[in-house]
Amino acid sequence: MTKGYDRNQQRHRALNLFGKDLTRRSHSKCELCGTAGEPLAVFEYPPAPAEPDFGRCLFLCRRCSDELGGAAIEQPEHWRCLNNSVWSDVPVVQAGAVTILRRLSAEHPWAKELLNQVFLEAETESLLGDP
Ligand SMILES: [Zn+2]
Repeated sequence: MTKGYDRNQQRHRALNLFGKDLTRRSHSKCELCGTAGEPLAVFEYPPAPAEPDFGRCLFLCRRCSDELGGAAIEQPEHWRCLNNSVWSDVPVVQAGAVTILRRLSAEHPWAKELLNQVFLEAETESLLGDP
């Protein structure tokens, strides 16, 4: 077994430990789209620090996880859900919502409008890491 493998396993265990708290925080609904009844997985908002950080974790359904992770956005309308989640008082949820809205805003006026309305907490700004 390599060191990299061990590190991976450790990280995996640490993220699993967050699962319980994330279940509570999310009420078992996807934290971006609100879908219930689907398997949810921990998503680490990039860049992932060496030690997993609860404050950078989201609990997401498959679609939200894939597309926030950089996959092509298949159904822009799916992301209308961000109308709710962008107002989240959880900074990393707000950061995730803003990340997707920024990707959409070039082509979708509703996304741009929403971005203009939302007030970003300082902590959200720092997660977004923008100048
Ligand atoms: Zn979702």
